[in-house]
Amino acid sequence: MSSPNGSTEPDEQLIADARALIDQAAQITVLTGAGISTDSGIPDFRGPNGLWTKNPEAEKASNIRFYMADPDLRAKNWALRAEGALWANVEPNLGHQTLVKLEDQGKLHTLITQNVDELHQRAGTSADKVVEIHGTTRKVGCLDCDYSADMEVALDRVRAGEPDPCCPECEGILKSKTISFGQNLVEDDLYRAEVAAVECDLMFAIGTSLAVSPINRVVPVAKQQGAKVIILNGEATEMDQLADVVLNGSISDVLPQLIT
Ligand SMILES: [Zn+2]
Repeated sequence: MSSPNGSTEPDEQLIADARALIDQAAQITVLTGAGISTDSGIPDFRGPNGLWTKNPEAEKASNIRFYMADPDLRAKNWALRAEGALWANVEPNLGHQTLVKLEDQGKLHTLITQNVDELHQRAGTSADKVVEIHGTTRKVGCLDCDYSADMEVALDRVRAGEPDPCCPECEGILKSKTISFGQNLVEDDLYRAEVAAVECDLMFAIGTSLAVSPINRVVPVAKQQGAKVIILNGEATEMDQLADVVLNGSISDVLPQLIT
């Protein structure tokens, strides 16, 4: 079946099968990746319009060693953020909004996301249901102490003339609270993700190629514990063989057909 925009949609039987699994589930753990945010205008970092393709310095700044060593690199990165070049004003789309219904229905165990855009929370999913396994760009933290604030607090300082604002408490280096290359994931987040994988009866992976370790492990862990698995993605993933239902199509088109 073809949709008006030319992309293929999964057939009706697969949609019905996935709907049945969601209806039967009591505790659903969702794992989302970049694919759910592309319809909000956040391009894949490495795609032709990707942030890192257009701004190689931004890719360099995402490596913790370069970031800590180079004040000029930090200043360029703060300037990009302050001018909104790092997709500051994006809004949740129908995919994020549809997932809120799982929580309304009392079925959402945990929503694990690899995205750093906070669009799930802005759509209405409770913050305490979300595990941001790769952190968030909407908050800033100190690399030396526990100082943390909204990103806008730091950006206001940049706009007021500080090229590389330092920590107001210890003068350490400030950075967005994303997990950079070379930084460890947050232990507590990994633990919550593992518990969510073990305790769910349905694991629903959306918009992720399931290629990023270790978080992709939640899918086989859930499967081994007896959970059903649905994978919805634009293309095939590395774990399609584990899934009870695989759906390939546009996430914001397909999700509203599954969750009503
Ligand atoms: Zn500090």
